[in-house]
Amino acid sequence: MLRFAAGVNVAPRARWLLLALPLALAAAHASPTLTWRWPGRYLFPAVRHVPGVRAVGLTFDDGPDPAALDPLLRQLADLGARATFFVTGEQVEAWPAGVRAILAAGHEVGLHGYRHDRHRRLPPWAAIADLRRGRAIVEDATGRPVELFRPPYGTFSLATWLEVRRQGWTPVLWNRDGRDWAPDATPATILASLGTLQPGDILLLHDSDRYGTPGSWRTTLAALPRLAERAAAAGLPLRSVGELLRWEGR
Ligand SMILES: [Zn+2]
Repeated sequence: MLRFAAGVNVAPRARWLLLALPLALAAAHASPTLTWRWPGRYLFPAVRHVPGVRAVGLTFDDGPDPAALDPLLRQLADLGARATFFVTGEQVEAWPAGVRAILAAGHEVGLHGYRHDRHRRLPPWAAIADLRRGRAIVEDATGRPVELFRPPYGTFSLATWLEVRRQGWTPVLWNRDGRDWAPDATPATILASLGTLQPGDILLLHDSDRYGTPGSWRTTLAALPRLAERAAAAGLPLRSVGELLRWEGR
């Protein structure tokens, strides 16, 4: 028998249970973090690429950014590219016209949370509150329901995962990371990180430096013409994730 400080006698089996329970809860909370690896990939599936589609999904996270958006939208129009913008609620709250400009230009908006927090470091109720607040702000600004969700840093907590399913959103990650947020990124390193484009790839880039390296969006912008050239040479137009998911005959 074990005597706890409160003077309660606890049987050894119960003692182990008391010790194991917080560990099990912590493991469950963090388990979707493993969504990148087996077996998490199967337990917590997310769209990373869309096989069989003769196009590449272009995605921009962390905006909308008043400095970056106008030049970016102009360039995407020049290149004949469409993209999905995963926006944060706090950025939309500060500048709701940004998401409307994205939609008016023929692109797509997905949710990237309200704040840009690592959800496995948030208590479950805070993660759920963050998603709901982000959703309300984005839907208010766009007048459309949120359909696609990408968690900050690409990591879910169990609460985040369950809330995304409950809301009916499609969780979207990526299979090619341009690493344009890195302090030493250049257009050449971005293109090298993205590698050889394959049908149905989903590319991760950023249209804001709010949570990354100051001015990084300029480097991203400079990489886009060469990226579009490569995509065209491979016969793969740059399109939004929604377009890939709705692709005919897939
Ligand atoms: Zn992000």
